[in-house]
Amino acid sequence: MNFDWTNEQLAVRGAAAEFAERELWPGFLDRDEARRFDRDLWRKLADYGLFGMAMPVEYGGNGRPLEELVLALEGIGYGCPDIGLALAVGAHLWGVVDPILRDGTEQQKQAYLPPLIDGRWIGAHNVTEWETGSDVSAMTTTALEHPDGWVVSGTKSYITNGPVADLHVVYCRLDVRDRKRLVFLIVPPGTEGVTAHALPTLGTRTCSFGEVTFKNCRVPKDAALGRRGAAATLFRNAIEKERALIFAPMIGAMQRQLEIAVDYAKRRQAFGHPIGSFQAVSNRLAEMAMRLETARLLLYKAALLKAKNIRAPMESSMAKIAASEAFVRSSEDLIRTFGGAGYLTQTGAEHFLRDAVGGVLFSGTNDVLLGIIARQLGLG
Ligand SMILES: Cc1cc2nc3c(=O)[nH]c(=O)nc-3n(C[C@H](O)[C@H](O)[C@H](O)COP(=O)(O)OP(=O)(O)OC[C@H]3O[C@@H](n4cnc5c(N)ncnc54)[C@H](O)[C@@H]3O)c2cc1C
Repeated sequence: MNFDWTNEQLAVRGAAAEFAERELWPGFLDRDEARRFDRDLWRKLADYGLFGMAMPVEYGGNGRPLEELVLALEGIGYGCPDIGLALAVGAHLWGVVDPILRDGTEQQKQAYLPPLIDGRWIGAHNVTEWETGSDVSAMTTTALEHPDGWVVSGTKSYITNGPVADLHVVYCRLDVRDRKRLVFLIVPPGTEGVTAHALPTLGTRTCSFGEVTFKNCRVPKDAALGRRGAAATLFRNAIEKERALIFAPMIGAMQRQLEIAVDYAKRRQAFGHPIGSFQAVSNRLAEMAMRLETARLLLYKAALLKAKNIRAPMESSMAKIAASEAFVRSSEDLIRTFGGAGYLTQTGAEHFLRDAVGGVLFSGTNDVLLGIIARQLGLG
């Protein structure tokens, strides 16, 4: 496995960083304070080609390798560490666009991928419910089959993009008595009976996030994603890829954090010396660098496996745990390095910590993922 990216691949990361700094970064702290998702930025990302970068040309994509998309996402996170926007992109790409490409029929791909790629539509991946998060199969949302289609009923919670989504991919039970009979349904824009409202959060405030209710929503027969009986496999494939890749922008954000911390440690004086000359401070920055590098390499490894469509439950879990835990720790370390100034919103450091915390929960809590790793070791 080779992590020596070519100059062309590194140029993709650099160009994405420049684009993000120029087009996405201005006004971030105001958007964060106002808890505002900005659809114009979504269109800018689409126009930049982010959503279609690794999508086939026939659906409006650019047909580039997955590795390039990962590097572009890393660049976006570096140029604009707006983690809410990054989360919105991750939910759209890994929870909706990629599963439709992998498991959709030709008709579904032609109907849904172009508007999801060119920025007209936003997608949401609806799995979690108030009473069932980690224990996904205990969900109560049902899809009852009729001769002319399906009727979806239920409420999904904590849904990234939920309140602004045009298209929903919804995980449902076919039978209230049987936890194993599941289906993924595509609920297209304009379906009657879909309502959503936003829920205020600790961090990732520039992303729209909330509860989505499907009340007797009628969707056509061909709304099912994947072949009959394969919904659990489809979910496993989608969530594994999401775990492997969703932290790519956060790797870029952590690189930015580290540079901000090192720069400050060189400039800030205390007791007649730059604070970076105190070993307590420089060790902290060295640990930030080491955590970042560990997370980055694990993410690259998982990404290269997923680029080859290789199952990687262990690697994707490790990548997600390493990146999310590193992000929380390093966000706290950034604040410690800044001292009191790090606690002020205007400094632009404290949002990292608020934004990082959700990462230990989504795409499977880190507790649950440690269990997956343990099972791969033959335990539990
Ligand atoms: C920022 C954010 C974005 C999200 N986006 C989406 C989205 O787009 N779509 C979606 O469907 N969901 C989304 N979620 C929901 C997320 O997937 C769930 O919160 C998560 O799966 C945990 O479920 P829960 O909240 O019900 O917690 P619970 O499952 O009730 O867990 C509570 C606690 O028990 C622990 N626990 C539970 N089971 C086990 C176990 N088997 N082993 C060890 N520990 C265990 C957990 O680790 C946790 O500490 C998002 C959540 C967040 C925070």
